[in-house]
Amino acid sequence: MHGWAAPITAANAVGVSEAAGALLAGQPELPRPPSYGKASIGDLLSSAAAVLGHAGSRNVLGLPAAPRICVVLVDGLGKSLLAKRAAHAPFLRTVLADDSGGSHPRTLHAAFPSTTATSLSSLGTGQVPGQHGMVGYDVLDPGQDKVVNLLGNWDGGVDPLRWQPFPTIFEQLAGSVPTTTVSLPKFADSPMTRAALRGSEFRGATSSHARVEAAAEALAATPKALVYLYWSELDKAGHSHGADSPQWERALEELDAGMKRLAATAPANTLILLTADHGMVDVPRSARVDYSQHPELVAGVRHTAGEPRMVHLYLDDGATAAGRDALMSAWLERYGKLAWVLTRDQAVDAGYFGEVRDEVRGRIGDVLVLARESVAFYDMRRVRPQAMEVVGQHGSITKAEREVPLLRIPVTGKPAGGRRR
Ligand SMILES: [Zn+2]
Repeated sequence: MHGWAAPITAANAVGVSEAAGALLAGQPELPRPPSYGKASIGDLLSSAAAVLGHAGSRNVLGLPAAPRICVVLVDGLGKSLLAKRAAHAPFLRTVLADDSGGSHPRTLHAAFPSTTATSLSSLGTGQVPGQHGMVGYDVLDPGQDKVVNLLGNWDGGVDPLRWQPFPTIFEQLAGSVPTTTVSLPKFADSPMTRAALRGSEFRGATSSHARVEAAAEALAATPKALVYLYWSELDKAGHSHGADSPQWERALEELDAGMKRLAATAPANTLILLTADHGMVDVPRSARVDYSQHPELVAGVRHTAGEPRMVHLYLDDGATAAGRDALMSAWLERYGKLAWVLTRDQAVDAGYFGEVRDEVRGRIGDVLVLARESVAFYDMRRVRPQAMEVVGQHGSITKAEREVPLLRIPVTGKPAGGRRR
């Protein structure tokens, strides 16, 4: 139905200048776009909703039948990281090894860019980024001609319900299936929650232990239930110390223990699914670069936004195709060995954002820089110096960032003294 499965080549990158097409053709082949509508993070809650009887949703993932479903979203747990560090997750490692039943995919694709605001919005709404419009950590709001943050520093001039107007899966299930979000208390009424995950009963708990308890309680409270459990700790450890750090290992051990507890305390007929919003790549300090120091990399650029591994560059009003192509050439000359550089049209036509509605187009940069190697690009005229200290990073479309696990965790029954299944 859509051309999403086709690799990007100069020949099918329509709607761009010949020069831009040639620039793209000279680069290493881009990864295919995310498997939207087949095996992406945006297909998970909608498949769960279909399993729970919602007529408007389709179970595209082929999830097994269950009256209760718990979706655990582990921020930053890439599929390859879990495989590599499985020694620190004895419970999840066993689940991985035993997981042979059912036809559902074991790997999902994060949305693009591979960042929390974008992937969680796809999860919450079942929509591709080009529809829900949360197309980065921060992006241009064309209406205000201003870069706005879509996560923790939400801009007061942006109404979450207008920016992301589609009903969430929780809203679609209202009146038929009780839905609960279990997350940190500070996210109860955050603009990000209102934009992408509105419409469920919210249970806030600070410690991961308390969140597991709250999830098990919510699952047991009604005969039919959809519970969304958000796990923040791993991503935090990865950003501060890297995924290759003892701190990250400890966070993984804590997750492992929490999942073991959830498996022991959830009602027997619960389908527990673990996934993530994106993976992570460690970027050494020497590879975190301030591109704004090079005038040719910001020539004719009015705004910069995005993540250091997926930069949005927005051109001045009245910019020409030739000016844009010169900018791309400058980036390729300096960083072409480390990153892909493409126009908005090339990324859109290739299906990276899914189908893009008109209102969302202007939020996407005219030129996009996608990190391919362990590198991160900063505009230090704009971002805080502390941003340079971030070790684990994500946003681009490499395998390590885009591939996340879909793990089915079997309910093991009550722990000591409790009833066995
Ligand atoms: Zn993150």
